[in-house]
Amino acid sequence: MRHMLAKRTRARQYRAEITNRLVAVLTSEDIFTEYKNSPLGLLLEYHNLNRPLDEYATAQLLIGMCMDNRKHLRIPDNFAFIIRAGGANLRYSEFKVSYAIAIGGVRSIALIGHNDCGMVNLAAKRDQFVQGLVENAGWEREWAEEHFMRFAPMFEIGNEVDFVLSEAKRLRLQYPKIQVAPMLYRVDTGLLCLVREE
Ligand SMILES: [Zn+2]
Repeated sequence: MRHMLAKRTRARQYRAEITNRLVAVLTSEDIFTEYKNSPLGLLLEYHNLNRPLDEYATAQLLIGMCMDNRKHLRIPDNFAFIIRAGGANLRYSEFKVSYAIAIGGVRSIALIGHNDCGMVNLAAKRDQFVQGLVENAGWEREWAEEHFMRFAPMFEIGNEVDFVLSEAKRLRLQYPKIQVAPMLYRVDTGLLCLVREE
């Protein structure tokens, strides 16, 4: 019993730590200095602060975000390349990232995770996943199980905030001249938050 309580307290502390790292962007003052005068700052102004939509002829940044249906960004036409992949995980979209940089000419990446992401704790969704493929897609149960076992570890993200932080670090190592900003989309408010890194 005491063990359970300790575990629960630790989990709660961990949630609080994660929440403390989120920075709400409610005025332009809240935007980190390094993102001001960059397409990353503009993204926050368009989406969170209702900045009037400017006209663009070419893409200014690359946005990596989850495939989740609860998210919609308010941004101008032509403003951004967008890669949508479960959990904002760009590990398996490398060529597309390279393309956006090399051919598309973008110099910034906004990596946008979100709370309540389905790619967190995938293992718990195994039975539902298998059953869903059998019923909805007409798969044999065995194939569905094998499919899950093979791919779930590649797409599991642990938790949303730690994942965008580690993914941002990985992308910076891979593309040293590109500015990468980890962000979180709150599906409850529809607003973007910045993630404090230290
Ligand atoms: Zn998600």
